[in-house]
Amino acid sequence: MGRFAPSPTGPLHFGSLLTAVASYAEAKSKGGCWLVRIEDIDPPREMPAADKLILGTLETYGFEWDDTPAYQSSFSSHHYQVAQKLIKDKNAYHCTCSRKDLSKTQTGILGTIYPGTCRNGCANGDFAIRIRTNDELIGFKDLLQGTYEQRLESKSGDFIIVRKDDLIAYNLAVVIDDFQQGITEVVRGIDLLTSTPRHIWLQQVLGFPTPSYMHIPVAVNNDGQKLSKLTGATGIDSSKPNLILFKTLQALRQNPPPELALEKPITIWQWVMENWSVAPLKKETVVCASKHGF
Ligand code: GLU
Ligand code: ZN
Repeated sequence: MGRFAPSPTGPLHFGSLLTAVASYAEAKSKGGCWLVRIEDIDPPREMPAADKLILGTLETYGFEWDDTPAYQSSFSSHHYQVAQKLIKDKNAYHCTCSRKDLSKTQTGILGTIYPGTCRNGCANGDFAIRIRTNDELIGFKDLLQGTYEQRLESKSGDFIIVRKDDLIAYNLAVVIDDFQQGITEVVRGIDLLTSTPRHIWLQQVLGFPTPSYMHIPVAVNNDGQKLSKLTGATGIDSSKPNLILFKTLQALRQNPPPELALEKPITIWQWVMENWSVAPLKKETVVCASKHGF
């Protein structure tokens, strides 16, 4: 069971289409199911009605999901229950540290390395919830990128699972929902590779199985920045889905025959189901959007 889990921060752009296509092709070409989950748990970053835009675009491009699209916000009471249970079991704790308190601490690849200040109790006031980590090596074999490992305690420290503004952190929500929805294969952008050891740690603490992971190249602009709302990525055109789907397959190094560009999405998808192979993407980390006309 695969999934595509966009955050509704804006319309679907070329970078998110790459992930949608790769996760869909990977699940469906093996006879698996594929779900869409709208990750709407960070309202300050969201754009009104982006969910509708994203789903509409996916539909125009011929994607077929195997269940009604899920909204992550509808699972939030369950997320809070899990956070409370983690506290009860002493796997998580309240942290009142402010950004200023942590400004002098070391930074690692994942940002500030939390020094464990509140592990044994904290001051009064607004609190975030952190999960306790240890320093064992957490590794996994990514289906494209090979072995990737991290020591959490010394490299990122205990990390936040519920924010001070009471919003559930992405890292906790994604782990709970992938488990609840029975996801066995996660295909997503390589920008999330460094977060995966934290997801595996949460799965271990919560007693969830670890799905397989495939981190695909991310689309970048000419300056090498990841396409996103922040770097000004625009929504993809819905008027020529066949041509854009074709170009996306080229960007994913699938070598589609030229005449396929003129066919309907349904015919393009039939070709994908018979020919999809991730081998050409091995160890690739970026796709330059402009090279593919985006
Ligand atoms: N919602 C996340 C994003 O749009 C993706 C989460 C995931 O695939 O794990 O960046
Ligand atoms: Zn603290």
